[in-house]
Amino acid sequence: MSLNSVRPWRNIYRRKSRQIMVGSVPVGGDAPITVQTMTNTLTPDVKATIAQVQAAAEAGADIVRISVPDQDSSRALKEIVRESPVPIVADIHFHYKRGVEAAEAGAACLRINPGNIGDESRVKEVIKAARDNKCSIRIGVNAGSLEKHLLEKYGEPCPEAMVESGLDHIKILEDNDFHEFKISCKASDVFLAAAAYQALAEATDAPIHLGITEAGGLTSGTIKSAIGLGNLLWMGIGDTIRVSLSADPVEEVKVGYEILKSLGLRHRGVNIISCPSCARQGFDVIKTVEALEQRLEHIKTPMSLSIIGCVVNGPGEALMTDVGFTGGGAGSGMVYLAGKQSHKLSNDQMIDHIVEQVEKKAAELSAEEAAAAEAAE
Ligand code: SF4
Repeated sequence: MSLNSVRPWRNIYRRKSRQIMVGSVPVGGDAPITVQTMTNTLTPDVKATIAQVQAAAEAGADIVRISVPDQDSSRALKEIVRESPVPIVADIHFHYKRGVEAAEAGAACLRINPGNIGDESRVKEVIKAARDNKCSIRIGVNAGSLEKHLLEKYGEPCPEAMVESGLDHIKILEDNDFHEFKISCKASDVFLAAAAYQALAEATDAPIHLGITEAGGLTSGTIKSAIGLGNLLWMGIGDTIRVSLSADPVEEVKVGYEILKSLGLRHRGVNIISCPSCARQGFDVIKTVEALEQRLEHIKTPMSLSIIGCVVNGPGEALMTDVGFTGGGAGSGMVYLAGKQSHKLSNDQMIDHIVEQVEKKAAELSAEEAAAAEAAE
């Protein structure tokens, strides 16, 4: 039973957007909120780019974006798309030809602003290439690159200017009878991004791609994104997310998932509940959690594990987790399975033993899920 059905204060009511496809991945409507990232290799370095796409996909990325700034990149894209386990979004700025080439190379989506690629004939050419190749489009409004006439009209980047820019691009696509698009309206300022996204969510039913742009390094960018994206997702806004970090794309995917997991919007892998530790701890909580995070990275089944230093909070947390360990005295602690006290365990065996218990539980949960899916067919 979902925790949300018994605890209404956990409910999030998602804005109703229409659904589009990014390759085989649905975005919007009642589709799960997807996690995206972007490669930072040179796109013509096919080997390095494919390796990064695969690592991101392995970490859980549903969709990966790749920059296509020149013709060499368009050529490389074809090969990358062929090898990629997930749909690829081609990131295009200004060059309409790159848009056409990327659609023909098999990109699942073009990130392109139709208002910035020149006259109507160029726009029509890109839209035709997208339509012919079953490629969707993401309009990407960015506070840092708003059109000159909007900056003159509004004086500075503001939510109204960003939404107007987005609606202008939408109009171009709709006038060309193209509806397979989603839209983002990013800013590096959390307040500006949040206000712009809220206004955008009122103004269109297109699926929304969320992001706080240029959020910063791993720690500061994670916090900024968690605040900005977290608030919007909590309000029900957002169909797909990208956390922008000056860090490895795999880190972006991990942070994206953690934000969705914190809000109960998506589940993947082991959710570790651990205490900060203090003088009462019966074992080294911090080292143990670090080791377990690494050893359990391969688990994709959604499940929970509590690692708590002592009996102050241990038994209570263990009640609500699939596997739990609570520190005790004399070099040993207590293992809890499915919320119930199970057996004593000595601290020096705990890592291997907990990994074993989690793997066993993950296999059981996966088998239950498969059986339930079969029964439902
Ligand atoms: S659960 Fe125990 S060890 Fe962990 S922080 Fe609280 S009192 Fe300290």
